[in-house]
Amino acid sequence: MRDTLPLLEKIPFPALRRGRLETLQVNLGYRCNQSCLHCHVNAGPNRTEEMSGAVIDSVLAFIERRRIATLDITGGAPELNTHFRRLVTAARARGVKVMDRCNLTILEQPGQEDLAEFLAREQVEVVASMPCYLEANVERQRGKGVFDGSIRGLRRLNALGYGRDANLVLNLVYNPQGPALPPAQAALEADYKRVLGERYGIVFDKLFVLANMPIQRFGASLLGKGDFDGYLHLLQDAHLDANLAGVMCRSLISVDWRGFVYDCDFNQMLDLPLQRGASERLRLADLIDEDLAGNPIRVAGHCYGCTAGQGSSCGGALKEAAE
Ligand code: SF4
Ligand code: SF4
Repeated sequence: MRDTLPLLEKIPFPALRRGRLETLQVNLGYRCNQSCLHCHVNAGPNRTEEMSGAVIDSVLAFIERRRIATLDITGGAPELNTHFRRLVTAARARGVKVMDRCNLTILEQPGQEDLAEFLAREQVEVVASMPCYLEANVERQRGKGVFDGSIRGLRRLNALGYGRDANLVLNLVYNPQGPALPPAQAALEADYKRVLGERYGIVFDKLFVLANMPIQRFGASLLGKGDFDGYLHLLQDAHLDANLAGVMCRSLISVDWRGFVYDCDFNQMLDLPLQRGASERLRLADLIDEDLAGNPIRVAGHCYGCTAGQGSSCGGALKEAAE
């Protein structure tokens, strides 16, 4: 697979510095029951990288010491990590808000039959990928059978109170099918609510609209089709300085399965470690007593994916998130 980093590093981006740390985003590994076309993690069933129990312990120690408000758990399919439930339960016991980036079909995998009940019991916020409300579009991006499995997963979560009960938050994630900017979040959310409600009886809280990042599998497909430069120009032309204040790297640390830290999940996938002092690579445990406010953030051309148009973060559009 062709790497887009050498091209992205040549593209200048405005300097950014960290603000107050609020969220720890932890990648539990790259194993996944799906292999989606746009996956910026390049996850799939054959990946074996997985966070160990010792690294999970360092995550919990960090959360406690630094009084982290939000733990955002991602992967791969993070639920496949054998320590997933221990991490969730321990974080919730410390009063931390926990988000699970769930692909929905995992709820039907062997050994995960009670996962939905577990998430509800722990009041974990579910953030579920649903790139379209139309079956053909979902299957083109995420694979055959994924749409029906996702609908069954959403119904199951709804039956447990997700999307209805204020303590059981269910948010969906949309990303465009190809090299285009995402549409306006509020209008698309209204469409999703109408179509999923009328056709399938599904309710949810919010739709997060995310831009595709020109990295990993999606980046390689841009290069293969000769669309890379065009997509980067599209992102750069739509850049708004006003979005710089809200980019997620200002308030979040991303942790990989080995415990190494990055300014965001995308930098993790590009292997651009968080830089502090002379150290080339730091583990979360190295930062347990460090205040990172003011630390420079590693930026490159892919960052325009966060600042184009309405802006994009792990919580959806930046403009609407601020409203
Ligand atoms: S479900 Fe998510 S992690 Fe898994 S392959 Fe698809 S995009 Fe990647
Ligand atoms: S990709 Fe986005 S979140 Fe990551 S460093 Fe760039 S601007 Fe920040």
